[in-house]
Amino acid sequence: MTDVVIVGAGQAGFQVAASLREKGHPGRVVLVGDEPGVPYQRPPLSKAYLSGALPGERLALRPQAFYDKHGIELVCGRAVGIDRDRRRVALADERELEYGHLVLATGTRNRELPVPGAKLDGVLGLRTRADADALRERIGGARNVVVIGGGFIGLEFAASVAELGLSVTVLEASDRLMRRAVSPAVSAHYRELHERRGTRVLFGASVVALHGGHEVTGVELADGSVLPADLVVVGIGVVPNTELAADAGLAVDNGIVVDEQMSTSDPRVSAVGDCAVYPSRHAGGPLRLESVQNAVDHARCLAARLTGAAEPYASVPWFWSNQFDARLQIAGLGTDHDEAVVHGDPEAGSFSVFCFRAGRLVCVESVNRTPDHMAARKLFTAGGSLDREVLTTPGFDFRQHLAAMA
Ligand SMILES: Cc1cc2nc3c(=O)[nH]c(=O)nc-3n(C[C@H](O)[C@H](O)[C@H](O)COP(=O)(O)OP(=O)(O)OC[C@H]3O[C@@H](n4cnc5c(N)ncnc54)[C@H](O)[C@@H]3O)c2cc1C
Repeated sequence: MTDVVIVGAGQAGFQVAASLREKGHPGRVVLVGDEPGVPYQRPPLSKAYLSGALPGERLALRPQAFYDKHGIELVCGRAVGIDRDRRRVALADERELEYGHLVLATGTRNRELPVPGAKLDGVLGLRTRADADALRERIGGARNVVVIGGGFIGLEFAASVAELGLSVTVLEASDRLMRRAVSPAVSAHYRELHERRGTRVLFGASVVALHGGHEVTGVELADGSVLPADLVVVGIGVVPNTELAADAGLAVDNGIVVDEQMSTSDPRVSAVGDCAVYPSRHAGGPLRLESVQNAVDHARCLAARLTGAAEPYASVPWFWSNQFDARLQIAGLGTDHDEAVVHGDPEAGSFSVFCFRAGRLVCVESVNRTPDHMAARKLFTAGGSLDREVLTTPGFDFRQHLAAMA
């Protein structure tokens, strides 16, 4: 009977614990987290929780009673070291936890803005509930909001506060929004969406300094211009929390390196979620993803192995982002596609972009078109593809096409 200690009580850590119990794991399950309270979901932090539409108690993944009922021990503390020979995890308060199996689910942290003034009051990131609470407190009194970074989190934040009637400027260093993750067609659609709601979007904008005494008052760009700002949100990406693993001698390469079943090079230590880099069938190489799907599916795969039903990880990556009334859903991995076909009606706010690489469908990005998204997930799960030509057939319906292929 193995005692499992999980470090990191976020989406992935929670899911490992819940799935172990679901699959009948008889040993102790200890979930160690350095944030207060029960594990919670992050996606609403930049959406409904930020705007006040979702009350705080609905952020929790499960209430305390769930952990009591299933014998999952929640330990509030920060893990600071792993002794792999003695199979112990040391916490910052000098407690030690002995493990039979150790799971690292330490997630990521926000990348810091490397310019003078980045620590001024009024300059905030958005990763934790505490961050969202601090932002909610400031939003009421803010007049000029500047968002640094036109990725998912920056844009979701911008949409939420624009809906509250605030003046927002988004600064993006590259030439289009969400560049790392979506096709040019989707970038362009979201630019228009944000601009239509009054948000100013500046491209090629390189921030060189933040101005202010104690509180931030402005953002200086490389061209010398200074934008007035009393609230600055920095959303320039994340770095995986790999220090614990690296200090313990485990392989780290832009994430904690694991195999197809989430095991590190030490068979008694696994890693899951945002912090883990794994051999992806869909990417054809090592991949680290930052998504709820990835955290949940990694966790389920690991729990299956630890309870004697091992299977290699093969889940199809998928993701969503809500901005204004546009629900973006992405199935597959399209970052290096070489051809994109738009289907549907972007002007009406409902379309999908089918992304191909070397003639093979690798990703479908859907805006307010959930049936396409679900069909894409089904197709990729079955290992199928789609001829580019069928997309131009008059009246093409992805779901019906898939049903006809079955
Ligand atoms: C604002 C926001 C919006 C998002 N929106 C979406 C969305 O719309 N769709 C989507 O798919 N994904 C979204 N994501 C991403 C998604 O939330 C993450 O991919 C997911 O939470 C990853 O889960 P995780 O458990 O790997 O990491 P995390 O959820 O980051 O959890 C890791 C936990 O480990 C703790 N920890 C780290 N080191 C230690 C230590 N040494 N000791 C103890 N505890 C430690 C951390 O404090 C944290 O609580 C969003 C993320 C954010 C921040």
